Amino acid sequence: MLAIDELKLDTLLADLLELCKKNLHSYNEELITKAFKLSFEAHKNHFRASGEPYFLHPYNVTMIVAKEIPLDDISIISALLHDVVEDTEISLTFVEREFGKEVAEIVDGVTKISGVFRGHNITQAENYRKLLLSMVNDVRVILVKFADRLHNMRTLEFVSPHKQRRIATETLEIYAPFAHRFGLAKVKWELEDLAFKYLNKDAYNEIAKKLKETRKDREAYVKKISEPIIQRLNEHELAYEIGGRPKHFYSIYRKMIKQNKPLEDIYDLTAIRIILENNDQNDCYYVLGIINQLFKPIPDRFKDFISIPKKNNYQSIHNTVVGPEGKLVEIQIRTRAMHEIAEKGVAAHWKYKENLSTANRDLEDWVNWIRDIFESVSRDEASNEILASFKLNLYQDEIYVFTPKGDLKILPVDSTPVDFAYEIHSKVGSHCIGAKVNGKIVPLSSPLSSGDQLEILTSKNQNPNKSWLQFVKTHKAKSNIRKYIQKEEDRIVETGKEIWERKLKKYKLVFNQDDINKLTKKLKFENPSKFFVAIAEDQLDLESILNPAELKEEELNELKFDSFAKFARESIGEVVVEGEHKGFVYNYAKCCNPIPGDPIVGYITIGEGIKIHRKNCKNLVSLSENNENRLVPVEWPGEAGSYFLAGISIKGEDRPGILKDISNTIAAFQNTNIKSVNISTGDSNFNGHIAVYIQDVNNLNRLIERLKKNKGVFSVERFDAYN
Ligand code: MN
Repeated sequence: MLAIDELKLDTLLADLLELCKKNLHSYNEELITKAFKLSFEAHKNHFRASGEPYFLHPYNVTMIVAKEIPLDDISIISALLHDVVEDTEISLTFVEREFGKEVAEIVDGVTKISGVFRGHNITQAENYRKLLLSMVNDVRVILVKFADRLHNMRTLEFVSPHKQRRIATETLEIYAPFAHRFGLAKVKWELEDLAFKYLNKDAYNEIAKKLKETRKDREAYVKKISEPIIQRLNEHELAYEIGGRPKHFYSIYRKMIKQNKPLEDIYDLTAIRIILENNDQNDCYYVLGIINQLFKPIPDRFKDFISIPKKNNYQSIHNTVVGPEGKLVEIQIRTRAMHEIAEKGVAAHWKYKENLSTANRDLEDWVNWIRDIFESVSRDEASNEILASFKLNLYQDEIYVFTPKGDLKILPVDSTPVDFAYEIHSKVGSHCIGAKVNGKIVPLSSPLSSGDQLEILTSKNQNPNKSWLQFVKTHKAKSNIRKYIQKEEDRIVETGKEIWERKLKKYKLVFNQDDINKLTKKLKFENPSKFFVAIAEDQLDLESILNPAELKEEELNELKFDSFAKFARESIGEVVVEGEHKGFVYNYAKCCNPIPGDPIVGYITIGEGIKIHRKNCKNLVSLSENNENRLVPVEWPGEAGSYFLAGISIKGEDRPGILKDISNTIAAFQNTNIKSVNISTGDSNFNGHIAVYIQDVNNLNRLIERLKKNKGVFSVERFDAYN
């Protein structure tokens, strides 16, 4: 293990401070030194895979920030401390106390986004980039993370091949495109080339070998084409820098693949860049003129990104000419400010104010947006204000969460485990009973955060709950829950209908839709469905609604005999044998066995004359439904006399002697005769049907009251169909 001696430590600090002094917008030497020392102490006993002291990692990350992405002392301090909270005993609270809230927030952010990738497969790179942005409130978190990643890539040779592959893939698919959008061209190229080296070693080595072989030739050629240009530029006394453009292995490789050409045929391997020091863009066009006088330009390849900058605010002139030996050479012309922005993006901006287009918060245009904010703050104003504008507000309306297997799911902000469960599968959603977020059980209604890993607990017995609608956010969850509730209600309505039909059958009633509508309205239900739900949920005493023994006569008329009543009022006679139907044969219907006192009506039959039914006879209701014209108003004859057959249904406790008591009661009541008795027993109860001869309804009711007084009798009711 290597240690860092004090002398070396002093040199490291001096190098860092020098670079910071040169490049930073704001510079607090004391605080940077303090962070440097804390980081060194905290990581003192840690070593990297390479055997180096761990401290060299945060130190080099900080050097990358100071060199490539120089912003302010806050980002430098954050870079120095970016691993202390995760890897050492030092707490975030301590960092905040010693270095302030901003540093603590950045360190926390870097730690969090580093955690996101652990154990996850990068299959949706674009979503991962959004995920990072959604977790980040301060742009400096991302910048420090870029530097961290760049240094890890530079030292990737020391980790296992498996880890190399994973980190290189992440870098190529997430960090490099991200860096591009931030305008960090240099960082992007290096990340790409390093990733390429680990992901496709053969191709990388091949390109490296060939470029090395041809290096001398290329350098000679660059010299050859540069000479006349240099001469002319000097004549015009322009301050400039000219040189061959650095080659990026990965971009060469991509060109080879895209154009399906060997390395030798990639034309712009030779490229020249002229950077004008005085930042006057007019000079760029002036230089363009000089070059086009020297060499023949290729019009199709001319691009003016100065007049029309790229989305990441890249500005430059790209001009391809026919150089010596007939070779095509791309020449880029730009100012120093344009060059710095091209290479350092956001980080370079505070140095150069630009005229920029209107901000757009879309990822594509977000660099513009940040610059726009910068622009609204005068450079002379306190750096605090500029730094305040580092606050991001991107993708804050979406969150990015993971399945236990590491698949990424995107949900609206404030989504809950139920939303997540439905996102996985409607069955998972419908049966979820709980959730573990990052290993801890949470209520189903708890809002999720970006980066959370979720495990949904399900149970077959669980079903969607109405109350879930109050907290779910996704359309998918809402519609599934609603669908279930609707289905459940339909099922309940069906159950209610079945119970209802059974009751109707039992009482031999027939209700058409119109009757049901009337009944539900009368019972004050919003609609028949609600009525059936109430039946299914046993909230209605159907017996009392339907049981004729307790049915009030007016209600019955109102409900089922409206049509008859109308008919009866308008039609002819009072008594059966009078009027138009006088002389007709009539007899008493056996389905309802009317007895004097019962409201009655006649029904003209074919071949059996007029049948006398009780007005509330269910049989009659159904018979007359389509044959209203066959109903005849009838009345009981004025004087009593004959006996009529009536049925009594009686229920009670099956105790010894009860039957004797019942028959005695009947016989004792005005010498009433029993026609038949039919008793069945079950458990400890009995159920009897007794047919008696009785004079009229009054007497029958009195008999029923008497029977009820027998010990052990639960209920006594008139029973209609008893023959
Ligand atoms: Mn690190």
